Amino acid sequence: MRATVYNAEMTPALPLAADTPVCLPGLLDTPADDFRAWLTERNQPSMRAAQIRRQIFANRAESFESMTDLPKDLRPELARSFALFSTRVERHLTASDDTHKLVLRLADDRMIECVLIQDEGRATACISTQVGCGMGCVFCASGLNGVVRNLTVGEILEQLLRLRNLTRSENDPGRPDLPTRLTHIVVMGMGEPLANLDNLLEALEVAGDPKGLGIGARHVTISTVGLPAKIRRLAEVGKQYHLAVSLHAPNDALRTRIVPTNEKTGMSAILQAADEFFDKTGRQVTYEYVVLGGLNDRADHARELARLLAGRKAHVNLIPWNDVEGLPYHRPNDGDLTNFIETLRRSGVSVKVRKRKGSEIDAACGQLRRKAEAEAATRGTTTASVV
Ligand code: SF4
Repeated sequence: MRATVYNAEMTPALPLAADTPVCLPGLLDTPADDFRAWLTERNQPSMRAAQIRRQIFANRAESFESMTDLPKDLRPELARSFALFSTRVERHLTASDDTHKLVLRLADDRMIECVLIQDEGRATACISTQVGCGMGCVFCASGLNGVVRNLTVGEILEQLLRLRNLTRSENDPGRPDLPTRLTHIVVMGMGEPLANLDNLLEALEVAGDPKGLGIGARHVTISTVGLPAKIRRLAEVGKQYHLAVSLHAPNDALRTRIVPTNEKTGMSAILQAADEFFDKTGRQVTYEYVVLGGLNDRADHARELARLLAGRKAHVNLIPWNDVEGLPYHRPNDGDLTNFIETLRRSGVSVKVRKRKGSEIDAACGQLRRKAEAEAATRGTTTASVV
């Protein structure tokens, strides 16, 4: 397991492409009919819409000016009317293991995080679905101030595009071990994905389209703390998305201490919905369990967890907590962790300790965004100043 070491220098906030001021409507959030009408008003054939989409999704275009197959006078007109990307890169951190972390500033000055993890021929995008989060998991910085708003379809897609554009280009002969496209998506960044299910599904539909990013549903993992009605809806969609339920505890009393929304929902309703998801889709459900030293890592917790999952076709992902400054939780000691894993395995539970590629990314989830926001507030940065 290799620790992630970030370049000490954060890149300065990158300027917006000259032709993409943030106050313009984002192209990816503009309804297709409206965009075609805009083209028609300018005597442009509607096939231009597909041409521009191909430039963005296949050719990695990041400005209208670079779309040289478009008429020369159309390009500045597009740039005056739409933001090709409505987000800007506020921070870009790279790690020695080829992990990239971006803090994106949205058009309303809010910030979100997304991460590219590259390993063994895979390039996985970890994306956010909300600004903030209403679930309030006690170990997570993303939920400290509650939820602000859902991300739009375009904002979800832009995270994927920006991360994809960081993968090695096909023309780049260097580092042939690195993938040239995104291969997987995990929806585990800021926010509760199922609380923004409509926008997420629409974005994933584009991501899965061969003319989009071509990432099949079986390569997409959607994580949730457990919203039973939404889990059932996801099962109804008829796609092979993989569901990961963040359990973190083997009983309601302890889970409510770690995931406060559990008090209302209760674990049995979540497990029942997850069982129905499996029955409907045939996709095994993964249960995520952040192991917090001294809190949920005892052998009797493992035995209780095994009893809870007995008879279920389930898999457990253990994520040992890493200490984070300012939070009162601790990494489990090695002996307790081994004991926990062995107790689960002896009980017949399929279990894996999540590989800590980009370990600081997991541990500090949400914290980089808060730091960037605090710095922006100190600088008094406003949208106007970056247009
Ligand atoms: S861990 Fe996920 S669900 Fe929990 S508060 Fe953080 S972002 Fe929300």
